Amino acid sequence: MSIAQLTAVTLPDGSKREVEKGSTVFQLAESISHGLAKKAVAAKLDGKLVDLSTPIEKEVQVEILTSDAPEALDLLRHSTAHLMAQAVLSLFPTAKVAIGPSIADGFYYDFGFERPFTPDDLVKIEEKMRELSKKNLPIERSEVSFPEIPALIEKFEQEGEIFKAELLKEISEKFPGTSVTLYKQDIFTDLCRGPHLPRTGLIKHFKLLSVAGAYWRGKEGNPMLSRIYGTSYFSEEDLKGHLHRLEEAARRDHRKLGPELDLYSIHDVAGSGLILFHPKGALTRSILEEFLRQEHLKRGYDLVMTPHIFKGDLWDVSGHSDHYRDNMYFFEVDKQEYVIKPMNCPGHILIYGNKGRSYRELPMRLFELGTVYRYERSGVLHGLLRVRGFTQDDAHIFCTPDQLQEEIGSVLDFAFDMMNLFGFETEVRVGTKPESFVGTDENWVTATQALFDCLNARNIPFHTEEGGGAFYGPKIQVELKDALGRLWTGPTIQVDFALPERFDLKYMGSDGKEHRPIMIHRTVVGSMERFFGALIEQFVGAFPMWLAPVHATIIPISKENEDYAFEIAKKAKARGLRIEVDERNESLNYRIRDGQMKKVPYMFVVGKKEEEANSVALRSARAGGKSEVLPLEEVFERLLSEIETKALPPIQ
Ligand SMILES: [Zn+2]
Ligand SMILES: [Zn+2]
Repeated sequence: MSIAQLTAVTLPDGSKREVEKGSTVFQLAESISHGLAKKAVAAKLDGKLVDLSTPIEKEVQVEILTSDAPEALDLLRHSTAHLMAQAVLSLFPTAKVAIGPSIADGFYYDFGFERPFTPDDLVKIEEKMRELSKKNLPIERSEVSFPEIPALIEKFEQEGEIFKAELLKEISEKFPGTSVTLYKQDIFTDLCRGPHLPRTGLIKHFKLLSVAGAYWRGKEGNPMLSRIYGTSYFSEEDLKGHLHRLEEAARRDHRKLGPELDLYSIHDVAGSGLILFHPKGALTRSILEEFLRQEHLKRGYDLVMTPHIFKGDLWDVSGHSDHYRDNMYFFEVDKQEYVIKPMNCPGHILIYGNKGRSYRELPMRLFELGTVYRYERSGVLHGLLRVRGFTQDDAHIFCTPDQLQEEIGSVLDFAFDMMNLFGFETEVRVGTKPESFVGTDENWVTATQALFDCLNARNIPFHTEEGGGAFYGPKIQVELKDALGRLWTGPTIQVDFALPERFDLKYMGSDGKEHRPIMIHRTVVGSMERFFGALIEQFVGAFPMWLAPVHATIIPISKENEDYAFEIAKKAKARGLRIEVDERNESLNYRIRDGQMKKVPYMFVVGKKEEEANSVALRSARAGGKSEVLPLEEVFERLLSEIETKALPPIQ
């Protein structure tokens, strides 16, 4: 008779327990409480994530994870991917599994199949998954030792699982001696590192979302696989919340609304990531640009303009030829290399350095709506968010070390005024000195402290990213939070000790000696393109009045009212309102609906009654379409005041 050997385990609260050597984590959970065992999804042994079936062989720290643990969602989603693969194989036995990881908001699985999966397939697959979930099948882990791997490869090959066979071959070649793990539920077995949930019954609240093509191992030329995306949660409420957010995101998507509202387009023949603004989009953008110009002038900036191309030599001096080469467009004319500018800084620096500067001229703030071109891989291009050509509201401030704090403060005030104006919440990060850097320690300390002090003085909460600054200086990055809580890159304030050095910039101090100025790169809205995209999504295409390309559409009820409609239009235009008349031979309801679809803020409906009273029936597209009859003059006043105050439309 052998007596079971015992070993001690330490629980997260510091308490110790004795368990039988070789007993599983699940058994430990059972011994603590039945409720815990029921809720358990995985565990951590000495900090390492493992399955509940893992045996405890020696003294360890054990943390039993339930659905509340931060790691739990990932595990659930990975296990849901396996459940989906099991369902796919049971419905489509000739499909071959490739890989199926969890991702940010869910999971995917790639399959080799004779045709792409269809939405109808997804419905069937989901039904099958529910059936397999109800069976509450155990998910079992097994280990295959290195010598057994060739037999497993052969088995996969016989089954036609060519992708798994290829992966396994590669693992055994790269890591000789290593063992691999298999996860099995019922007759479905997958090569997988795990860990996984213990039973399929824990996978309940999931949804398959879409199908896309994906090359095997992401390489062009490899077989095209059918990738199914889905998501999974521990509660129906969480799943519903996520699906609602997806719907909202789709409703606001600027890539859908932009073309629908005829604001901009992108053309293959012209090049990816290059945006063409149509009349309505260009009008809104130019109102915004003119506003920004005026704001900069008001705040003590000078406007400058610089060309789109410079000789390669300039970028050698700035260091971009070395450090930024992969993102730059080069071309050669008359044996001279040119660069299409990826940044505006060198141009502004040349203007500063054009003559000797005195401390009396500082701070010098040079502003330009500068269009830059940067090469981005085609895979990362995304609507107006990631593009290859964009216009920055870019300024460079040249100042003395003593002026740094005040300058940063006023840039912050500027940035926050703008974000408030557009109704964006913000998140702020400060990046401090990285391991390799240029400039003196003293300058770094002063500059970084200046950033902190400015934020603190304004009660702006922020996260510090230690070492997150650029090698040439610390920075403040502001991100916009849109109506859905998603973050967009917004204002950036970057201190720079390097470029003044490289360009040997100087000013004559009050002491009669030459000094080096400090430079601040800063943008307020960042990229006009990206900000335009953010505005489309924030307002679901219905811009605030001052930015709306059309303020109101006048709709005459019948032919007899057309003259009156055009007469009002003429008066409104004279007052500075942007007006269209919709005299199409369509029903009144059709034209009202059309105006709403086009996100026109107001409609003036005019018939005989309105004409006699010199009034209009005013409908606000944003106030639920209620209409009220008002004297013409009052309508003009109301609209003009909304434009004047730059009032925000209600969040929709
Ligand atoms: Zn897996
Ligand atoms: Zn710059």
